[in-house]
Amino acid sequence: MSRVLVASRNAKKLKELRRILDEAGVAGVEIVGLDDVPPYDEAPETGATFEENALAKARDGAAATGLPCVADDSGIEVDALNGMPGVLSARWAGRHGDAAANNTLLLGQLTDVPDERRGARFVSTCALVTPGGAELVVRGEWPGVIARKPVGEGGFGYDPLFVPEGGEVSAAQLTPAEKDAASHRGRALRQLLPALAALAEG
Ligand code: IMP
Repeated sequence: MSRVLVASRNAKKLKELRRILDEAGVAGVEIVGLDDVPPYDEAPETGATFEENALAKARDGAAATGLPCVADDSGIEVDALNGMPGVLSARWAGRHGDAAANNTLLLGQLTDVPDERRGARFVSTCALVTPGGAELVVRGEWPGVIARKPVGEGGFGYDPLFVPEGGEVSAAQLTPAEKDAASHRGRALRQLLPALAALAEG
């Protein structure tokens, strides 16, 4: 059994990777989270790109624990804002994690932007770093548009404003299973499967 650290305390993220490994039939990988390993100093996310942030977190985790480490960084890129909020998604309205304020600010910024220019994408970048120094960085994208008002009670963050491409409903109206199957995070994590399977085989 090969242990892999996911540099997160978010039980949903740990479960999602476990489910993706199970669905792909990858046996022999035990996923552990930050709460399962001795505490270590976690550097703040100050990178200019999702890739830098994910890689920095995965390098720290592998160095501190001696385990292969998966870390992710995610956010939303809005075309009419030249790709912002991007790495600043969590604190767009000035306070980390205030989703209601972030959504109100984003809607206000896009008030005069017509429907045909409301394109956006959720992005998830995942890095896998081994204690031996092997590094892999992958990116999953989920394209869609920014609605004119928040709709739906599910999900988190920008989900009530995001209508995935080809659909009519917001990400906050999808069931968790529907969101997982389509989302940026699932798309990124699935790209790590061959490398995780190789770790399990030793
Ligand atoms: P983190 O990568 O978990 O730090 O997430 C960064 C921020 O991006 C979150 O606080 C949300 O604002 C936004 N975000 C990332 N993924 C999603 C998603 O699936 N739905 C809604 N918002 C998201």
